[in-house]
Amino acid sequence: MVDLAKTYDVLVVGGGNAALCAAITAREKGASVLILEHAPKPFRGGNSRHTRNLRCMHTEPTEVLTEAYLEEEYWDDLMRVTNGVTDERLARMAIRGSNGVGRWMEARGVRFQPSLGGTLNLSRTNAFFLGGGKALVNAYYATAERLGVEVLYETEVLDLEIDKGVFQWATVSCQGGEPVKVRAKTVVAASGGFQANLEWLKEYWGEAADNFIIRGTPYNKGRMLRNLLDKGATPVGDPRQCHAVAIDARAPQFDGGIVTRLDCVPFSIVVDKNAQRFYDEGEDFWPKRYAIWGRLVAQQPDQIAYAIIDSKAVTLFMPSVFPAVQADSIGELAAKLGLDTQALENTVAQYNAAVRPGNFDNSILDNCATEGLTPPKTHWARRIDEAPYYAYPLRPGITFTYLGVKVDEQARVVMEGGKPAKNIFATGEIMAGNVLGKGYLAGLGMTIGTVFGRIAGEEAAKNANH
Ligand SMILES: Cc1cc2nc3c(=O)[nH]c(=O)nc-3n(C[C@H](O)[C@H](O)[C@H](O)COP(=O)(O)OP(=O)(O)OC[C@H]3O[C@@H](n4cnc5c(N)ncnc54)[C@H](O)[C@@H]3O)c2cc1C
Repeated sequence: MVDLAKTYDVLVVGGGNAALCAAITAREKGASVLILEHAPKPFRGGNSRHTRNLRCMHTEPTEVLTEAYLEEEYWDDLMRVTNGVTDERLARMAIRGSNGVGRWMEARGVRFQPSLGGTLNLSRTNAFFLGGGKALVNAYYATAERLGVEVLYETEVLDLEIDKGVFQWATVSCQGGEPVKVRAKTVVAASGGFQANLEWLKEYWGEAADNFIIRGTPYNKGRMLRNLLDKGATPVGDPRQCHAVAIDARAPQFDGGIVTRLDCVPFSIVVDKNAQRFYDEGEDFWPKRYAIWGRLVAQQPDQIAYAIIDSKAVTLFMPSVFPAVQADSIGELAAKLGLDTQALENTVAQYNAAVRPGNFDNSILDNCATEGLTPPKTHWARRIDEAPYYAYPLRPGITFTYLGVKVDEQARVVMEGGKPAKNIFATGEIMAGNVLGKGYLAGLGMTIGTVFGRIAGEEAAKNANH
């Protein structure tokens, strides 16, 4: 029974993977723990409930992971995507902490399955959750409740009172009611990024942000992040950096999840609202390119684009949950999309004329390319000439932002002047920018939240019981 008059050992802000890993760990170390989750119970679990896997270092094959994935290869992969914009100590902690973490997760109710087939081939590096992130979150809540972790839903943390780097109390609103104080000896901020706060995104993206679709929870508005930064936490990460993919433009503005992602770009030509191409759709394998297309679409007029394919390509990728727009001619397709008919016909005709003969093979960087076309399509270029024709509208889909708070090896928030806060910890998206300064490695979001969640929970419990 939640008792807001008592002083908890550990107050956890947020109710996703990072929060749950921290809460369970702290409780197992003997601390009294209260989770405050802004979302109502059916929507608990933040972005974590949309996930499918986490990236794990492993030295030999496991039941669900093939071969081995060693620290140095993991580190090299991270260096490649971040171009070195990472904190090596914390990154290596995340990598090493992922070694064997599956067993810890299984002991707390999470179940795994072998990798799903599909466009992103991750069977060696990423462990897939049976039932997806929703099942993971439900399993962790069941474990947390069995252990005696207390949870309040529909409870937003409005403010943390911090005096000289020491957390005193949180001001919270339950079900939109009058603000009340909740006291605790320590606090763990696990409240995600600020991607659901369109006004904040506009500070960096301008009006374009109105056309962004937020793939995950509407509750990650960055209120705690802003609060901590205002109260002297050291920022980390570039506010413009985020994980953004191209998703089906018909997706809801929030919480559409994984089923709105579109993997058809390498087999298509992508045009803007003027029916003009703007980037090489076949530059590299999709797993290496999918995360740049959100940003590319964001840079086009009105932040809209259209992937155009023909019947040869329609079975080659995982479709979105929405059916493709279909037509018997390019002109009819243009009309259905609201594009200038002549312009789209010209673009397709120019592209078709530039396609050189080659051997199409979507499992390799094949020799199907255009010649004399700007921008070129350097692989998987085949003429778009077999009706029916199909199109998917694309918008930037923001997964999560990278601006966060700096933490140390104990997951303590580092304050101005470089001194760690005494009793304030952070884990998950709110500190992911320490490791992910730029770019993205599939499955790393859940790895960071799990590894640093466990560290934050343990350190907070230790700190509270001093
Ligand atoms: C569609 C989609 C698919 C993804 N797939 C993967 C994947 O397969 N693998 C992977 O590693 N990553 C994936 N990610 C990224 C991953 O979801 C995140 O990195 C990870 O879930 C972050 O966990 P978290 O606990 O920090 O945040 P979240 O799970 O988002 O939890 C944040 C919580 O804080 C709560 N909250 C926010 N503000 C407040 C407040 N002021 N008061 C109280 N509560 C508050 C929210 O309600 C929410 O419960 C995906 C993301 C999306 C959107």
